[in-house]
Amino acid sequence: MAEDMQILVVDDENSVRTVLTQVLQEDGFAVTEAVNGRQALEFMEKQTFSLVITDIVMPKMTGLEVLAKIKRRYPETQVIIITSHASLETAIAALKHGAYDYLFKPFNDLDLISAAANRAVEKVRLIAKNKDLLEKLKKKNKELEKVNTTLKNLACRDGLTGLFNHRYFQEYLIFEIYRSKRNKETFSLVFLDLDFFKHYNDTHGQLEGDKLLRSLAAILKKSIRKSDVVARYGGEEFVLLLQSTPKANARIVGEKIRRNVESYPFKGRETQPRGKVTISIGISNFPEDGADRSSLIQCADEAMYQAKDSGRNKVYLWAAGQ
Ligand SMILES: [Mg+2]
Repeated sequence: MAEDMQILVVDDENSVRTVLTQVLQEDGFAVTEAVNGRQALEFMEKQTFSLVITDIVMPKMTGLEVLAKIKRRYPETQVIIITSHASLETAIAALKHGAYDYLFKPFNDLDLISAAANRAVEKVRLIAKNKDLLEKLKKKNKELEKVNTTLKNLACRDGLTGLFNHRYFQEYLIFEIYRSKRNKETFSLVFLDLDFFKHYNDTHGQLEGDKLLRSLAAILKKSIRKSDVVARYGGEEFVLLLQSTPKANARIVGEKIRRNVESYPFKGRETQPRGKVTISIGISNFPEDGADRSSLIQCADEAMYQAKDSGRNKVYLWAAGQ
C-alpha cells in the first residue's frame, strides 16, 4: 500500500533528512530529499507527492512559505512541519495555514515520525478514495438519467413510428380538455386511417407495411405545429390534437395532410386499389361536439368512418344529427 505513496523530505540539515528517510523507508514509503524549499518545489513540479515533511527554519525560503505554496498549488498534498520545541507558536501557525501535523526536533521518539506520516498518508488515501467514489457516483447518475429517459420514451412512445402512443394520447387529451376548459379555448381532434392498408400488407409483406406506417408518421409530424400532438392510435390509425384550432381550420389542416399523403410517392403505391396511398379523416371539436374525452373520440371516429363509407380519401367533420 505504501509503495505508491511518495514522500518528500525538506530540510537544510543533512542529519535530519537522513533520520526521516530511514524511518519512512522502513515503513515502505518512497522518499525523496530536498535541501531547501526552492528545490522541494522544483521536485513537486515533476512528481506527485502525497506528503511533504518540511523544516521551518531554512535559508532562502521558510517552511511556512513552502507550506503556503504547496497548499495553493497542490491542495491534495498533506504537509507536516518540523520545528524546535522552542517554537510551538510556529507549529500552531502552520496548522492554521493548513499543515496536517507537526514534529518536534530533535527527534526523541522515532515512532512519532512514523505515526504522523502514516496518518497523513492515510488521509491522502481517503481523500483520493472519496474523490473516486464521487466520480463513480456521478457516472452512475448519468447512466441512470439515460435509463430514465429511455424508460420514459418507452412508456409514452410508439415503438414502430416514434410517435406518442395510445396511452400517452389518452392522458394528454384529458389534460387538454382541462386546459381548454379553464382558458375557454377550443381544440380539434383529427382521426386518420390508412385506406386499404391490409391490401398493401398482403401485397408487399408486413415489413414494407411497417415502413409505410413510418413514412406516414414522418409526413404527419411535418404537417403539424409544435403545439400540436400526433400519436399512433393503433394499427394504421393515427390521431392529431390541434391546439386552439376551430373545426374550419382543422379541416384545412386535414385537407393539406390528405393531399400530401395522396401525392407522396410511397414505395409500391401503384398496386393499391386507386393506384395511390390515401387516408380517410374524421374531425371533432371541443367544445362544439363534446366536452369529455369519450364523446370527442367517438365523434371523430364516426366522422372518419363516414369518410370511409363515402369512398375514402376524404375529410369529414362530425356534425350532430348526421
Ligand atoms: Mg533548518
